[in-house]
Amino acid sequence: MKALFYDGEKLKLLDIERPQIKADHALIKVTMAGICNTDLEILKGYMNFRGILGHEFVGVVEEGPEQLIGKRVVGEINIPCEKCDLCLQGLHRHCRSIKVVGIRDYDGVFAEYVLLPLKNLHAVPDEVEDERAVFIEPLAAAFRILEQVQITNSQSVAVLGDGKLGLIISKALSFSKVNHLLFGRHTEKLLRARWTATELSENFKRYDRYFDIVIDATGRKSGIEQALFLVKPEGTVVLKSTIADEMTINLSKVAVNEIKIIGSRCGPFTKAIWALKEGLEVRDLIEAIYDLSEYDKAFERAGKGSLKVIFKMD
Ligand SMILES: [Zn+2]
Ligand SMILES: [Zn+2]
Repeated sequence: MKALFYDGEKLKLLDIERPQIKADHALIKVTMAGICNTDLEILKGYMNFRGILGHEFVGVVEEGPEQLIGKRVVGEINIPCEKCDLCLQGLHRHCRSIKVVGIRDYDGVFAEYVLLPLKNLHAVPDEVEDERAVFIEPLAAAFRILEQVQITNSQSVAVLGDGKLGLIISKALSFSKVNHLLFGRHTEKLLRARWTATELSENFKRYDRYFDIVIDATGRKSGIEQALFLVKPEGTVVLKSTIADEMTINLSKVAVNEIKIIGSRCGPFTKAIWALKEGLEVRDLIEAIYDLSEYDKAFERAGKGSLKVIFKMD
């Protein structure tokens, strides 16, 4: 099978053996796969990953339990050991020896096939086309915020970042009827986002200590500093960015203003699937669709901070 392999220096399209089916797993033929910011960060050294890249996908089960053959599925990315103390306490997504599809010690989905544990799979309803299903993983991560922070109507909410992550968070919030202001750096991109946020702004300087809840989805080091500027005393900052670079920030503001900082990562697939089934539109977040052989162009385009770039396998 064709697979997009990262060797620590560059991406290569290899022709390798497809994975062998094993107990409690399914072999899935990948239909579409999305390039995420995390993939771009891995190419800069994040997680020290070597292997087949990619973790956002939709595909069709080709081998595995009979009732699953031919079914369209998506897959959760965390593969916990189920044995360590953290797993036994129910913190599976934080397992001490966790494997993460296309991110840590497990081959990803930028390939014709991927082998995944049955536990990780979710069926995709007929109403949800492949072009929307490929967004289930990042959309679930966006809905995670609403599991972690109870947002009431009287609270003011800001999302920082008009990249793919910020926009999908904005969509998830709008779908959940959470009014919010979306901050970005590019008027053109913000205008494309008109359908998602309640309000848009390029100028965050006017909003010194204004918001009860600030969600950083900038993917940049400066994001947390901007978030700490925007958040009210005793407010909450949700960190969604994962970046490869080390960073230093002055935490005195956090202590003085008694700010809560919440890290936020993977979220509920069932909620994302339900929202898409209910009609949540995300196809306007697609920037371009490429064949796997055009990976150079695809990654270049994704790196420009544009919307979602997708691989379509044949
Ligand atoms: Zn991702
Ligand atoms: Zn574990």
